[in-house]
Amino acid sequence: MRRILEEEIENSSGRGEWLEPEPAASFRTVDGEPIYWRDEHDVVHACEGADIHPGERVFWTLCGKDVPADGAFYAEDLVVTCPVCRGLLATLDGEEK
Ligand SMILES: [Zn+2]
Repeated sequence: MRRILEEEIENSSGRGEWLEPEPAASFRTVDGEPIYWRDEHDVVHACEGADIHPGERVFWTLCGKDVPADGAFYAEDLVVTCPVCRGLLATLDGEEK
């Protein structure tokens, strides 16, 4: 699955145009802020989300856990403590630059 770059998400908002319309395209930021989820063990995961239908947004962690509908949150400078998510994040960030 192709990942949407942050710039594309920002470009797409407001002008009403997606560079590549993909109903299930995933993203890792909302309004430029990374998506996180803190699980029941107080571990902070990095999350991805996707708008599967208009108004219907789902989230999951990079390490593959489902995130409860109201569980994901956006924040700056939060430390991801899940080792799997950290490793994947480093890989993804490397690819995007
Ligand atoms: Zn994780």
